[in-house]
Amino acid sequence: MTAVQGPAPELVNADETVTYDALVVGCGVIGPCVATGLARKGKKVLIVERDWSMPDRIVGELMQPGGVRALRTLGMVQSINGIEAMPVTGYTVFYNGEKVVIPYPYKADTGAVEKISGLVRDGNDKIANGDQTISVQDFELDERERGVGFVHGRFLQNLREIVAQEPNITRLQGNVTEILKNKQNEVIGAKVDIAGRGKVDFHAHVTFVCDGIFSRFRRELSPEHVPKVGSSFVGMSLYHAKMPSPNHGHVILGTNHMPILVYQISPEETRILCAFNSPKLPSNIKEWMRKDVQPFIPESLRPSFDDALSQGKFKSMPNSFLPGRQNNVLGLCVIGDALNMRHPLTGGGMTVGLNDVVLLIKKIGNLDFSERELILDELLDYHFERKTYDSVINVLSIALYSLFAADNDNLRALQKGCFKYFKRGGDCVRLPVSFLSGVLPRPFLLTKVFFSVALYAVYVNFEKRGPLGFPVALLEGIAILFTAARVFTPYLYAEMIG
Ligand SMILES: Cc1cc2nc3c(=O)[nH]c(=O)nc-3n(C[C@H](O)[C@H](O)[C@H](O)COP(=O)(O)OP(=O)(O)OC[C@H]3O[C@@H](n4cnc5c(N)ncnc54)[C@H](O)[C@@H]3O)c2cc1C
Repeated sequence: MTAVQGPAPELVNADETVTYDALVVGCGVIGPCVATGLARKGKKVLIVERDWSMPDRIVGELMQPGGVRALRTLGMVQSINGIEAMPVTGYTVFYNGEKVVIPYPYKADTGAVEKISGLVRDGNDKIANGDQTISVQDFELDERERGVGFVHGRFLQNLREIVAQEPNITRLQGNVTEILKNKQNEVIGAKVDIAGRGKVDFHAHVTFVCDGIFSRFRRELSPEHVPKVGSSFVGMSLYHAKMPSPNHGHVILGTNHMPILVYQISPEETRILCAFNSPKLPSNIKEWMRKDVQPFIPESLRPSFDDALSQGKFKSMPNSFLPGRQNNVLGLCVIGDALNMRHPLTGGGMTVGLNDVVLLIKKIGNLDFSERELILDELLDYHFERKTYDSVINVLSIALYSLFAADNDNLRALQKGCFKYFKRGGDCVRLPVSFLSGVLPRPFLLTKVFFSVALYAVYVNFEKRGPLGFPVALLEGIAILFTAARVFTPYLYAEMIG
């Protein structure tokens, strides 16, 4: 019999008699960045994670350039080094077999990356030398922005290693079971269930909830802060796949199927995510894949896809939508997916979360955390300031998913119009890819571009109908515009006004 190894002693002996400046719940993508940013600003931080071993998940595997830039700003970009990560230089979109290639924007158009004082030091905002897959040449010297694909668990372990190096951070392995409050209902810390120690109360001036997609504690903000789940992704790993466009994210669209995403996450492994338009998965996933996905896979990917399908190792995740909410509880800050979620189609979750961390550290990093009222005031403002950046990625993800998963004629017309719009090139790809990659935080420009796409879809439909079909095309045009407003405006409203 093999002995079951418990957690390392340094992961379970955190001191419960001190009041920490910050207690961070969760060491996924966002927790380590909050903890590191605050620790480098001199705060005494306790970070609690229920499982420090490497997770095996199909989420957070393609980071947009806006996320890479945020890691640089935080002095944490070397977390993408040493994990056989793959540079991503843009997207290739397939539509009913046709394709359009969309490179990421030029650095000259996105401006210099900010450096937060105290966080950026000793070149930690630059890619490290000597990496086999992520080269300085690619990332520092290329004229275009870069994203990156990686095995999620390996990236997380790198972030956790950075956390382990910070002298102001205490790591703790345990399950947070309760957010502690005083008689005035203000948050004062968390109760943690620790192997061998039982349930222990830890106190902090500010508790940061970063417990992710299935957050248990987001409800501390409001019982109504609950995500909506409308669809799912079913994922498989493809091995040694021959990518149609190497170093690109692939979005496979068509009139007769749901969107399919394909991107390389290591030299050997490629992730495929297939959308299913319901939170409840098909009863026979293999059969559904064979019938509704396999026929639409580009030729070069078929051998690796067929292998993976015959192995039948599927993983699925719900796709949730949750507009952000103001952090208005004294002593509490909810951030990351616990606060705000969007459709993963556009791979924007980590980028939103990391840019939230940047803004957070800029707003409160230099304050004294024992002045809790002051921190609360800053967090109230923070809610409005984050909208400009986050709303673009969030609304775009939902709007594009509605178009790409089109289930009626108007949406199908918008889908076709959108693809033809991309085919025009110039600003018709530069602006959309700048929104998607998280380097153009301009919600009103996004609105303008979205409705330009809708008008173009109307024009394409007029062309298709020809002169004799003019009256029909006119009626259809009104319906298309109405549908465009319906898939865009409520989400923009929820993001900007909520
Ligand atoms: C199918 C899918 C694909 C996605 N793909 C991408 C992508 O390609 N690119 C992208 O940018 N984003 C993607 N996302 C979104 C991305 O994964 C999230 O935005 C990101 O992981 C959020 O980070 P987080 O730290 O908030 O949460 P998580 O990364 O979920 O981390 C939460 C952490 O908290 C810990 N925890 C939870 N509860 C407790 C507790 N009670 N006590 C102690 N610890 C606890 C967990 O163990 C975990 O380590 C995807 C999402 C989905 C659903």
